[in-house]
Parts: sequence; C-alpha cells; structure tokens
Amino acid sequence: MELYSTRDKNQRYTLREALLLGLARDGGLLMPTEIRVLDDDFIKTLPDRSFPEISYRVAHTLIGDSIPENDLQEIISGSISFPAPLIKLSSDQAILELFHGPSLAFKDFGAQFMARTLSYFNRNENDHLTILVATSGDTGGAVAAGFHNVPGINVVILYPKGKVSKLQELQLTSFGGNISALSVQGTFDDCQTLVKQAFNDRSLREAKRLTSANSINIGRLIPQSFYYFEGFKQAMSQLKPIRYVVPSGNFGNLTAGLLASRMGLPIARFLAATNINDIVPQYLKSGLFQPRKSQETLSNAMDVGNPSNFDRILDLYGSTWNKIIVDIAGSSSTDSETMEAIRTVYRQHDYIIDPHAAVGYLASESNRDNFFDIILGTAHPSKFKSTIDKALGYEAPLHPTLEKLLHLKSVKIELENNYNRLRSYLLD
Ligand SMILES: *Cc1c(COP(=O)(O)O)cnc(C)c1O
Repeated sequence: MELYSTRDKNQRYTLREALLLGLARDGGLLMPTEIRVLDDDFIKTLPDRSFPEISYRVAHTLIGDSIPENDLQEIISGSISFPAPLIKLSSDQAILELFHGPSLAFKDFGAQFMARTLSYFNRNENDHLTILVATSGDTGGAVAAGFHNVPGINVVILYPKGKVSKLQELQLTSFGGNISALSVQGTFDDCQTLVKQAFNDRSLREAKRLTSANSINIGRLIPQSFYYFEGFKQAMSQLKPIRYVVPSGNFGNLTAGLLASRMGLPIARFLAATNINDIVPQYLKSGLFQPRKSQETLSNAMDVGNPSNFDRILDLYGSTWNKIIVDIAGSSSTDSETMEAIRTVYRQHDYIIDPHAAVGYLASESNRDNFFDIILGTAHPSKFKSTIDKALGYEAPLHPTLEKLLHLKSVKIELENNYNRLRSYLLD
C-alpha cells in the first residue's frame, strides 16, 4: 500500500510511515494512491462469511503486501473480536450496533486495529513511541483500551476539562501505566490544535517519536471500513437500496464508508447527520466550507467545529461539490429534538438509542426516501446515562463495564491551554 499527502500527491508514504507519522510531513492527510475494487462475487457471498473473514479480505485488498498475510490475520482476529449486530427498528430502518467493544463505542474498532498494527510496525524499534490524541469523549477511551500495556508505546490523551461525562473521564484516567490523561482548560478544538502544534514542531519531533491516534491516522480509518461490509451483509435480504446514516463529528466514520464504497460495496447513498455543529451539512447545501468554534451539545463526541477528515472527502471527489452531493446528503438536529427522538424510539420500538445515534435517527426520519437506512449506533446508551435517564424519565441500569469503572482510581494532570506547557510535559 502506498499513500500520498492531500496537499501534494507527489509525496509518497508507506503504510508504516503513514501510521507512525499520523499526518503527512507537509501537514496534509494521507490517502491511498490506489483503492482496489473487490470482485462482485465477494459482495454476493458476504452472507456466507464471518465478520473477521470479511475484514481480512477488505484489509488485504486495501493494504496489499504492506503486512504479511499471517501477521495481518493475527491483527484482524485480535481486533475484530466483538460483533456488530444489525437491529431492525422498522421495515426500512435499522441500527448497526458498533458498541460491543471494550469502551462501548465504534472507535474500539479503529483503536484495536491501530494498536496491533502499530505494535507490529514498531516491533524492532528501541525508542518508545508516543501516541498523542485529542478527544471529545470517546476516542480517548477507545485508544486507552486499545493501547493499554502495549510494549514500547506510551499514550498521552488530551481532553477538554469539564466537557466529557464522568464515565468518559474515568475511561481515560483509570488505566494508568503507559496511559496518561491531560485535562486541558479549553474546548475539544483547543485540544486538537495543541496536538496539531506538537506535530508541526520540528525540534520536538526530532527529540521524540510521536504519532496520532485521531481519525487523521489512516490506521483508524482502514478498520472502520470493515463494518460497512458487515452491516451491508445483514441487510442484503431486503430489497431497497441501502443508505448509511452516519452520526458525524470529525467525519472519520463517514470517510471510512466512502472507502468501502470505492472498494465496490454498493451503498446507494450516505446521510451525514450532525448536531448543531453543522459545518458539513451547510457545506453540502451551499458549497461553502466554513469552520467555526464548536458548540456544546448532548451528543458531545460530535461537537466539532473544524472536521479534520473533510479534506479526505474533498480529495476523494477531486474537490468537486457537484459530485460530493450526489453521494452524500446532510442533516442536523438540536438537543431538544435529540431528547425527543430518544423518547420516540423507546416508545415506538422499545429500543434505547444514545444521543449520537438519535441524531442519526432524526436525519433518517426527516429525509425519508425509498432507502433501507442503516443508522450507525456509534455508542452504547449507557455511556450517556444522565441524558438517557432524563429523556426517558427513569433510571436505567448502568452497563456492567461502566459499573466496574466507578470503583477504579482516576489519575489526571491539569494542563493550561498553552502549547509550551504541553511541549515541556512531553519532553519531561
Ligand atoms: C467519535 C464519535 C462520533 C463521530 O465520529 P467521527 O468519525 O468523528 O465523525 C459519533 N458518535 C460517537 C458516539 C462518537 O464517539
């Protein structure tokens, strides 16, 4: 597999370099130079194949011989180790539950795969590798779970102080060992900016091996394309064209869907669902991309004012708005609509959705068309217990994985929103 920078297609990178660097040297995002198409027969026979088997085939097709077959098999069986069941809500709507991994969010797929792949590429190095990651809530927990105790790798997580839920914070701060959590006095966008500054800091990077586990790292996107196949497989028996509804923040998840589509998965359309941080839906309407400061909402993992994967979407379509809107529609909703949707889905379908999937559900409902909608269930509702309890008016029991967290010790370091502070912390 060979990759190029979205800023300069002549700059080429190996998969190993892409994973270790995170961003291209010129600050661009890395994209595969070639996206090979799976044959029709593979698509037709998806129902005969297990999730790990499908994942292996997709990975191998995309990655080629960058990782030898046996090692890739091992990476896949270790990381695709929990299911992604499709739960039907109605005759033309279903939720693809992507939250059966250790941190109860879809990001576990990306983090598990990336941890194993990085550990594979890092196996002959003497110096520690530091993974620097900004999180608006769920990324950090998934990355911490994926990399905990991986030899040769340290993880530094930056999160906005007071802006993640108590349970999310415990998921970041309770591991200890090779995982450090920095509570930053700022917003998620500030955290993301600090991380970007560190990556652009030449002298820091000469002193320290740094990479990112945010969805700017292609190592997270590759495995996220697998479950689009797995969801499609479970919906193939119905007749309508399949549309994926993707609750979106940084647009890594949607970009992974576009990769699956480029690889030949016949997804009819994508619906990008956001909360009031609707920069991309606005772009789809007007052709103007106008990042702005993010606003806090109940679906906090999608509170993103400058979606970091947008350049990848542009790149896939040669920056042509006309082409993008053929494949992707947008929709946004408010917090009060989100609360109402949680109640409606519970009343009508006896199913509890989390606030992010609720934003997806709202998008699906307000853009009804002749599609079978697969709404990505990006997190387990228990992660957002207080919102769910408030919406439904009773106390739902906590998921056992989260219940256990409450008894663990939390260790965090307070950090001013100041790059020099981060720099000295990293060099210490
Ligand atoms: C991260 C996250 C999202 C947004 O995914 P992107 O890939 O950043 O668009 C949506 N829902 C949940 C629960 C998340 O954790």
